[in-house]
Amino acid sequence: MASVLVVNSGSSSFKYQLIDADSEERLASGLVERIGESTGHATHDTPDGHWERSLEIPDHAAGFAAMLDAFKQHGPSLDEHPPVAVGHRVVHGGARFFEPTLVTPLVLINIEDLSDLAPLHNPANVQGIKAAQKAFPDLPHVAVFDTAFHQTIAPDAYTYAIDADLAKRLRIRRYGFHGTSNKYVSGATEDFVQRPVTELNQIVLHLGNGASITAIDGGRSVDTSMGLTPLEGLVMGTRSGDIDPAVLIYLQRKTRISTDDLDDLLNQRSGLFGLSGRKDMRDVISAADKGDESARLALEVYLHRIKHYIGAYSFELGRVDVIVFTAGVGENSAVIRARSLAGLEQYGIEVDPERNDQRGGGIRVISTDASRVTVLVVPTDEELEIARQTLSVVG
Ligand code: ADP
Repeated sequence: MASVLVVNSGSSSFKYQLIDADSEERLASGLVERIGESTGHATHDTPDGHWERSLEIPDHAAGFAAMLDAFKQHGPSLDEHPPVAVGHRVVHGGARFFEPTLVTPLVLINIEDLSDLAPLHNPANVQGIKAAQKAFPDLPHVAVFDTAFHQTIAPDAYTYAIDADLAKRLRIRRYGFHGTSNKYVSGATEDFVQRPVTELNQIVLHLGNGASITAIDGGRSVDTSMGLTPLEGLVMGTRSGDIDPAVLIYLQRKTRISTDDLDDLLNQRSGLFGLSGRKDMRDVISAADKGDESARLALEVYLHRIKHYIGAYSFELGRVDVIVFTAGVGENSAVIRARSLAGLEQYGIEVDPERNDQRGGGIRVISTDASRVTVLVVPTDEELEIARQTLSVVG
């Protein structure tokens, strides 16, 4: 039975999944980490068990050798489930890549060239692709971009009002991220509300460590909260989201903070963490429940920003049919879901407290039967979406 290997590569680790091309069943998944450190670590999971191993993994190529070894030792057999292609998650596709793309030497050069826009991610993605090409030299490799889904956004929504020549020269505009997740969850609602996605206006809240909100009109992204980088928009675990850019100028004048420290401040030491000293939403909620004032304020700022965007995107869309919650916080936190949509009854948004509190996997409705807008929890599955898009390229 044919399969697809999905790879998500970072600078010192990569995750993989082997997915059956027909049934979409997950045949295996794994994580190879601490690449380049003195001792690396590899885990491999199949429906039959979980394996771990510590070994020297000097580079990504050695990582793929460890992965192939795990398949050999613990299965499933790659001869019985031959991969027909390898699908790679690539973070930044700039304005060049608007669909899944077969990797050629020129495509690799273009992904590398976009590294200025995603210095932590694109070089690592390229490293992963090159190593995977060595491990599977006869297979087609397909790049699936996190930004691609948002390439339908129109210039009025993606343009920053700054010097136009400068912006053009440096490719400064809003690109948006979480596109693969958005594509998956907005497509998955179709069966559930029994209307084609082309007829649905949706707002998707992807609330994980990174968080974004997207307005989707008939399956096409029309606006999204992340921008040139994943720093813009909602309050996140450690990222500030929206901020008056003059704050950065003020900080630089007042404290002479370096560019790297500013980057670190906004990406690693802000958001829930900056406000409350905690980046994990579970910790913030439990501290707030115990009366911690900073955690309470962090939650309120987080929720205020969400509501601000739901309002903006409702007006941009003109009509909202579906609101989707997804990712770690969106799938698991009934409190955040309820509070995000509290008080919006006059706009046709009514969450049913009992449905919202029920735990469980799979897609579920949490709005009342009377609610004009259907509110859904949809577990995201970026790997499956990458596998599907990879197959759409290789046929
Ligand atoms: P990433 O963006 O790293 O992929 P995830 O989508 O896995 O992140 O989301 C991680 C976030 O989900 C963490 O902040 C975690 O606290 C939060 N989360 C997971 N389970 C719960 C829960 N039951 N209640 C609230 N937050 C949760």
